[in-house]
Amino acid sequence: MHHLIIGAGPAGVRAAETLRKLDPQSRVTLIDGEGEAPYSRMAIPYYLEGKIDEQGTWLHRPLDWYGEQGIELIRGRVKSVDAAAKSVTLENGTTLPYDRLLLATGARAVNPPVEGLSGARVRHCWTLDDARAIETFAQKGSDVVLMGAGFIGSIILEALVRRGVNLTVVEIEDRMVPRMLDETAGNMLKAWCENHGVRVLTSTRIERVGETDKGLEVFTSNGETLHADLLVVAAGVTPNIECMDGTGIEKRTGVIVNARMETSLPDVWAAGDCAEGCDFSTGDLNTLAIQPVAVEQAVIAAKNMAGIPAEYHCALPMNVLDTMGLITTSFGRHDGLEIGERAVLHDPDHWRYIRLEFHEDRIIGAQTAGHVNMVGVLRGLIQGRMALGPWKERLLKTPHRVAEAYVDLARGLS
Ligand SMILES: Cc1cc2nc3c(=O)[nH]c(=O)nc-3n(C[C@H](O)[C@H](O)[C@H](O)COP(=O)(O)OP(=O)(O)OC[C@H]3O[C@@H](n4cnc5c(N)ncnc54)[C@H](O)[C@@H]3O)c2cc1C
Repeated sequence: MHHLIIGAGPAGVRAAETLRKLDPQSRVTLIDGEGEAPYSRMAIPYYLEGKIDEQGTWLHRPLDWYGEQGIELIRGRVKSVDAAAKSVTLENGTTLPYDRLLLATGARAVNPPVEGLSGARVRHCWTLDDARAIETFAQKGSDVVLMGAGFIGSIILEALVRRGVNLTVVEIEDRMVPRMLDETAGNMLKAWCENHGVRVLTSTRIERVGETDKGLEVFTSNGETLHADLLVVAAGVTPNIECMDGTGIEKRTGVIVNARMETSLPDVWAAGDCAEGCDFSTGDLNTLAIQPVAVEQAVIAAKNMAGIPAEYHCALPMNVLDTMGLITTSFGRHDGLEIGERAVLHDPDHWRYIRLEFHEDRIIGAQTAGHVNMVGVLRGLIQGRMALGPWKERLLKTPHRVAEAYVDLARGLS
């Protein structure tokens, strides 16, 4: 049995390890399309802050680990898949046969349609190679513009601040992390960043970027021209699924998978940022694009590839950000339902915010700022679909009591 895995990010590597354990007689091949030692993107901010070196981002050290485990690591990018012939072809023309295929190709950062987003001083912050370029241009005292204050942009923001740059963030929406936080929490985060010396322009678009011998000129919709030694573009990602073109695989934004992480093609599975699986909060398909989900999906895919039936229960959308000490979180239907109810507690003097979203007698979503100890509790209440009973009325009036509610409900008390 030959298990072939396209993509050597966290999903691909975890699938390879799992297959090696569960199917020791099989051949396991991992195709690395980046020409790097397999690494975790999550570690990039720590690398930029100087807390770890490049090897600290690697998923396994030393690189010989893969060979020692009997995992064949091949360098190259898959150009196409022939699902009928059960083979893949690399960009260098090599063709590799498979019995079972896992698509673990992740996603890549994309550019919005803005003139001038090219050249050495314009980078995403998605790959280790991007991180090396950022390291070169984001020196202490340099002017850096960050396009986009979404989840990834806000993670990079702190690393840039720690490098001592003069940072301006330009966000097209009216607040930071608009897909995670509402206006109150997103603007609380904005004020927090401004208090920490970051300039944050919301409701502002970068319209054009020009290059001079002194660096970049970034033209914004509020009429300003910002000087930049570096422009970091964090304005969205798209799944890497082009190698499946022509196979007839079912896809929307990503490749569609069922609970066993099977795609619509026989003997082809998908996991991680390239896959669209079930979203716990809506029951619909979604790409959640966070590492824990990628890795859990990879384990489920690998089990099924090894002939051990396993199912992935829908993933709860959940984001936790630590921005220079302010923890912001969002869970499930954080924006609520029209037919639901809401409890809000806003304490701007202490940088605290809680918003709970209810449907019937359950919490279906939440967002918080400044509360460090609510992550596990909110996850438990929402994912456990815990019926609140009398606690619902109490939480509507005093939402900060969620931990107390959780403990009572877990003990069968109310
Ligand atoms: C700066 C940064 C910080 C992050 N921080 C967090 C965090 O704090 N928490 C969190 O949960 N998530 C975080 N993420 C997101 C997280 O990194 C991703 O969810 C995770 O990497 C997904 O893993 P994956 O294996 O599905 O995809 P990837 O890590 O993208 O790996 C896929 C691999 O497949 C390769 N590939 C693609 N196409 C081909 C092809 N045709 N042939 C061969 N190889 C191919 C890619 O080049 C890549 O190496 C962060 C991401 C970034 C960029």
